Amino acid sequence: MLQREGLSGTDSNPTTPILELRNVNKTFGSVTALRDFHASVALGEFVTVVGPSGCGKSTLFNMVAGLEEPDVGGILRFEQRSVHASDLLGRVSFMPQRDLLFSWRTVIDNAILALEVEGVPRKAARAEALRLLPEFGLAGFADHYPHQLSGGMRQRVALMRTFLFKRELMLLDEPFGALDALTRAMMQRWLLDVWQKNRRTILFITHDVDEAIFLGDRVVVMTARPGAVKLEQRVDLPRPRSPDIVTSPAFIEIKRTLLAAIEEESMKSFTAATSTEYAQ
Ligand code: ADP
Ligand code: MG
Repeated sequence: MLQREGLSGTDSNPTTPILELRNVNKTFGSVTALRDFHASVALGEFVTVVGPSGCGKSTLFNMVAGLEEPDVGGILRFEQRSVHASDLLGRVSFMPQRDLLFSWRTVIDNAILALEVEGVPRKAARAEALRLLPEFGLAGFADHYPHQLSGGMRQRVALMRTFLFKRELMLLDEPFGALDALTRAMMQRWLLDVWQKNRRTILFITHDVDEAIFLGDRVVVMTARPGAVKLEQRVDLPRPRSPDIVTSPAFIEIKRTLLAAIEEESMKSFTAATSTEYAQ
């Protein structure tokens, strides 16, 4: 178990932040992707992020993964130290939105990719991945190629790759976005199970409000671009969570609050998109 209460009793915040962002802006030429973004993620927390398409969610993750620097003036803190985004490269596990498996590599060799890049000898990496296969629902599939797997299985290989790269903070960018509803529901329960067993801090982007509530300790709703935090909603639902929790009054109340915020922002981005279209 993680230490969740490492601070002195005089501190009003009972949790230790692993990641903090303050005044983070990110512009690409004339496009402002993120504006004045603030966030704090506690050690061991599962935070889900929702927001309209194009509002800067993936940009945010690319930054925390160390692939993009914020504009000058933004503050990034990791494990309670100020850092440049580039310092975070290799210090967090990242499953990008389009995490493609290499078609010419088997399941096991796709799974160990990050370990290999890190310099772990192939034999040791394979042995470690083999042990994890059953937990990821891939027992017996070590030597299969991606085209021989279902969509859900391919996503589990990509997730396994991310889990094998053992970092305290994991970023998952819409990992279940392409799956059908039934597979997605199975994957959500499975992810919570894996998370419960191998506790990490997770930041998880999704388009799906039910998914955001079902998985998260907290849901962050982003504004339409430029992305900022519109609303942070705590999800005080008991764990482990069963699928029928979605029918509980507490769940429905949270969903109502979130949907109102999301709809407001989606209308803004829709209006912006159509007015740009008309202007062209
Ligand atoms: P989301 O993941 O919320 O859908 P993104 O973070 O992918 O949104 O994109 C936010 C905005 O930033 C979009 O307008 C996108 O076109 C722009 N953007 C993202 N990355 C780049 C880049 N590397 N170069 C130029 N523009 C980018
Ligand atoms: Mg995205």
